[in-house]
Amino acid sequence: MSYLPETSNKGVEFDADLIRRYDVMGPRYTSYPTAVQFRDDFNVYDFADAAERSRVNAGPLSLYFHLPFCDHVCYYCACNKIVTRDHSRVAPYIEHLKTEMSRVAPLLDNTRPIRQLHWGGGTPTFLNNDQMSELMEAIAGNFALQTDDKRDYSIEIDPRVASESTIQHLADLGFNRISVGVQDFDEQVQKAVHRIQSERETLAVIDAARSAGFRSLNVDLIYGLPFQNLKRFASTLERVIEIAPDRLAIYNYAHMPHLFKPQRRIQEQDLPSAEEKLAILQFTVERLTNAGYVYIGMDHFARPDDELAVALHNGSLHRNFQGYSTHADCDLAAFGVSSIARLDDCYSQNQRDIEDYYQVLDKGELPVAKGIRLNQDDIIRRDLIQRILCQGGFDVVDIEIRYGIEFLDYFADTLTRLWDLANDGLIKWDGYRLNVLPAGRMLMRNIAMVFDHYQAQATEQRHSRMI
Ligand code: SF4
Repeated sequence: MSYLPETSNKGVEFDADLIRRYDVMGPRYTSYPTAVQFRDDFNVYDFADAAERSRVNAGPLSLYFHLPFCDHVCYYCACNKIVTRDHSRVAPYIEHLKTEMSRVAPLLDNTRPIRQLHWGGGTPTFLNNDQMSELMEAIAGNFALQTDDKRDYSIEIDPRVASESTIQHLADLGFNRISVGVQDFDEQVQKAVHRIQSERETLAVIDAARSAGFRSLNVDLIYGLPFQNLKRFASTLERVIEIAPDRLAIYNYAHMPHLFKPQRRIQEQDLPSAEEKLAILQFTVERLTNAGYVYIGMDHFARPDDELAVALHNGSLHRNFQGYSTHADCDLAAFGVSSIARLDDCYSQNQRDIEDYYQVLDKGELPVAKGIRLNQDDIIRRDLIQRILCQGGFDVVDIEIRYGIEFLDYFADTLTRLWDLANDGLIKWDGYRLNVLPAGRMLMRNIAMVFDHYQAQATEQRHSRMI
């Protein structure tokens, strides 16, 4: 069920004053608890126990592969990547992925259908076509890959490192969704972030994906980069609207050079002001919704006939590490350096350093570095946060029946904050039902944060601001 207002496709209202007032640091809730709360004392035995519970519960699986290599560094990047020109580093990495799969797959039951597969990075196409084939064959050897139309097999593409033949090869391997990093077409912005990518290269990849029959095309943009202003970003946005992707993700650049070394190459004085960013965001939301895109939430837009938009309106949307998804929460096995898995009631993360990752695998072990097993309170709060971000609210009685709690007692400490959100027009709240209102849809993570037990300690650490 969806709790979103029954308005037109737009369903979102941009209130600049509210956004200014609620501009605090906060998580993007691709998981709850977030990675900041993962614990070092979570070990391989905890992982194996979680895998066993996942195996017993069965059901479809998602797979994630982290392919960390990049030819060049983009200065805004906050991903876990390895910048190198040495392509001989790929072969040993694939060998270690195979070793990891051969240890994890038997724990999970290799007959479970793989509904979702995602290759992220880094730059997945740093691998050449033969290496991509080799990896996909190894995956097929360990897991039950699907060929039907219900599968979502996606890959992140950097158009600078993918030819038209690469795209056809990916389609032949079974990928049917493609996510293309654009960020900004403006040359000065591209120079300042060290990502020179011509419009021609981008369009070639997109045309190739369409010819190869990819079911869905996503384009990523970033606002808040150096030298961006409303006029320049509007020009990029117009060109992207002409391309007509099925989905768009518009991320806010969070300048945190103390955490991400490449960002130290970006001069703070070149960044747009908070007011300029707000103007860009407002223009983007209004322009895309006027162009017919549906605001899905948390930076994501989709065409009205896209499965994400349909799922938003029928209340079947989900959120996971890849953002929004139409698949019910299925367990996620993740492979490669720094990748994060979700098995049963646990999250776990692999070693972040490639040498540590290799060393642990070479010793015959699993490369689990940290994680968390959710307690009942985490599970209740995760459910509420998911419902807010994906369905736009919840019925109190549903939560009470499902978890055997008296909602108003259980969340007594939270009620004042809920009433404050209601008074500010972000939500409709009467003690029985919470509905996110159009003005609250740009601030859904602020609403979700009310139910985040760890938020007070987390916000000062690794999260970004709203603008
Ligand atoms: S943004 Fe992508 S291509 Fe650029 S350095 Fe980061 S992972 Fe590599």
